[in-house]
Amino acid sequence: MIVTRFAPSPNGPLHLGHAYSAIVAHDLAREANGRFLLRIEDIDGARSRPELADDFRRDLEWLGLEWDEVPPQSSRLDSYEAAARVLMEEGLLYRCTCTRAEIQALEPRIGPEGLVYPGTCKGARFDPSRASAIRLDMEAAMARVGEIAWEDAQAGRLAADPREFGDVVLVRKDAPASYHLAATLDDATDGVSLVTRGTDLFFASHIHRLLQALLGLPVPRWHHHQLLLNHDGKKLAKSRKSGESALGLSEMRAAGEDGAALAERLRMGQMPCGITLSRYPHGET
Ligand code: GLU
Ligand code: ZN
Repeated sequence: MIVTRFAPSPNGPLHLGHAYSAIVAHDLAREANGRFLLRIEDIDGARSRPELADDFRRDLEWLGLEWDEVPPQSSRLDSYEAAARVLMEEGLLYRCTCTRAEIQALEPRIGPEGLVYPGTCKGARFDPSRASAIRLDMEAAMARVGEIAWEDAQAGRLAADPREFGDVVLVRKDAPASYHLAATLDDATDGVSLVTRGTDLFFASHIHRLLQALLGLPVPRWHHHQLLLNHDGKKLAKSRKSGESALGLSEMRAAGEDGAALAERLRMGQMPCGITLSRYPHGET
């Protein structure tokens, strides 16, 4: 059975890009008589505003979508800790006390997610009086799994190679998991068989495939959809920047717009004025 999910983080209101993402995931499940899940990704520390989750549900309902909701990330912290413990015991993780400024000062290269950590703390004595994140030793992890592949609906079969990300954070200083670890574990727990999300997260799937191999998790397929771009070709931002608030779903809902009709237009690729769809495969990142 096809199981898809929409996994918004309650750190800002949903906008048209989220609507598109939810509709894609919903329709792919429905077309196959599968299940469409909603998962609230609420472990984003200080930025998380749990009260937004209710708005999200109302927004989805307004768009005419139906879903099954699975438990939010904040109720799954034990599973993240357990997975990190396993990888730590296998010697694939290390603690890192570096601050962003310290990493920046080393003038590291820039990867798909920004600064690539140069590995300063790997093998170094760790100072327990400083806050620490936990990083994946990427070279050791890749050596452990050998050759692995993943499959995207449009891009086809790809060798999983997340090395350009460097030693990514799996446990944040301020949260019991990073997005990569939490989302990968949750998708497995929830039985997600087709991971759908925007092409802005295309490269992250390399990391997730590696984590699946390391943790012995089932391997889903992926569908990365195009992104909605604003008039200057940038993807719609979650934070309310000037001119974009008109695209907030709860505002359109409050203004009496017809959500189901909007969903139909998005399905047909009819974007509101000033909005375009990115080109595949990677679009604007
Ligand atoms: N919580 C993530 C976000 O809002 C979900 C990304 C994903 O679908 O994996 O961007
Ligand atoms: Zn460090």
